[in-house]
Amino acid sequence: MKFLIAGFYHESNTFSPILTKKEDFIEVEGEELLDYFPGAVHAFRAAGAEVVPCTFAGWMSSGVIEEEAYRYYVDKIVAQIREQKNISGIWLQLHGAIYAENIGCGELFMLRKIRKAVGYEIPIAIGMDPHGNLSPDITKYANILRAYHTAPHEDQQDTYRITAEALIDFALRGVKITPAFVRLPMLLCGDTALTRDEPLRSVIARFKKMEAEGEAACASFFISMHSANTENTYPAVVIVPRKPEDYHRAMARAREIAEEIYERRHEFRFEGDLVKPQEAVDMACDSEAYPVVISDSGDNTTAGATGMNTYFLKLFLDKGDFHGKKVLISTIYDKRAYMLLKDREVGSDFDIMLGAGVDEWSQPVPIRGTIKAKGATLVYHPMRSGLRTFAGGLITVSIGDLDITISEVADSFTDMEQCEVGNFKAEDYDIIVVKQAYQFPDLVKFAKKQIIALTPGATYQDLAAIREQYTKLPWTLWPFQGNDK
Ligand SMILES: [Zn+2]
Repeated sequence: MKFLIAGFYHESNTFSPILTKKEDFIEVEGEELLDYFPGAVHAFRAAGAEVVPCTFAGWMSSGVIEEEAYRYYVDKIVAQIREQKNISGIWLQLHGAIYAENIGCGELFMLRKIRKAVGYEIPIAIGMDPHGNLSPDITKYANILRAYHTAPHEDQQDTYRITAEALIDFALRGVKITPAFVRLPMLLCGDTALTRDEPLRSVIARFKKMEAEGEAACASFFISMHSANTENTYPAVVIVPRKPEDYHRAMARAREIAEEIYERRHEFRFEGDLVKPQEAVDMACDSEAYPVVISDSGDNTTAGATGMNTYFLKLFLDKGDFHGKKVLISTIYDKRAYMLLKDREVGSDFDIMLGAGVDEWSQPVPIRGTIKAKGATLVYHPMRSGLRTFAGGLITVSIGDLDITISEVADSFTDMEQCEVGNFKAEDYDIIVVKQAYQFPDLVKFAKKQIIALTPGATYQDLAAIREQYTKLPWTLWPFQGNDK
């Protein structure tokens, strides 16, 4: 048996004003690619199969991909697949929310080209991120789909193993399987859909049972990626039956689970207090519990926002008096401001404009103060779970009781290791503003109080309030319609 491995990883935020270019992507080929997917590779090798790596490219969540860039990678992957003879199956890692300029749904575009090259006789499996906006048409081209069962994501390799095992099984038995796919008539805010909370906790437990007991090869819930105006921005339940004749049973089960999730839609809630930005600033300064972590949720870089917004900075500058509290805004991405400061001495004064000015939310603000420290940013590798990578420089500046970290790249403060690398101490502050919506475990542990501020930006969280921006979705969707909030 011979299995090909390829992939493309990108969560495209259509509300970001910045297109993602070819040079932004990390590209791996050959043996190096196999290091990214040990879950799948071990499964293939354990079955005595040959594994052929093609190309895998990806980047962190950001704006829509330039047409030329996406065509380049798809053409490259398809050409590599076409070169191979006697293929038993193709295993892909695709994010699920790939969206390219003038192309639209990136997954469909790639899969159609692959099927054109190899026909429909061999099975295709895809390991995916649950924040995917899937077209129902994906089931015409792929036989196996599975999303990670965790958000925040921790079980990527399990998904890769399970999909690879199903691919081997389908190839050996020569069965042609169509996944059962059911969409939910709702726009779901991904930051309210964590698998540690209900209703997803029990839904995932049910999926695990179905997979363990053999009722399904794979069972998944695609939460969707809400910061994208696409024709596919819907959550979906996808169940892959083991046998072609079980398709209708899988469909009935998918429908039943989709209905149950829809019925429980009001249980999707943020983990912290959700308030207007000004209220968040006032609440934090008046809070008796410290430290307070505030989410600048409209500029969540982990969901593709720019990280450039100066909105919160202006609110704190306007407030002026923080009731004796020390505040950190972490972090504002402005390469020009970073370059202006990077060669200056720590302890020296500065007087600059901060704000990249790419849209109305990132307009420059005059700031004057002292350079406090220099360090680096440490970000999660976009395509390799668990791996951290140094991404660029970070400078901490002080304006009285307000400190700001200014970074060379888009970043989000998600864990304490970043303090060490960035050369700042989280415990020095009473209030920390981060470019996130929900918090990662380190910050949950650190915060005595969490506030989610409904700030404007490319990842705005009050979806019903911006329904006019979702021009590709019907207004009959929950929570758009009526007063059914
Ligand atoms: Zn995700």
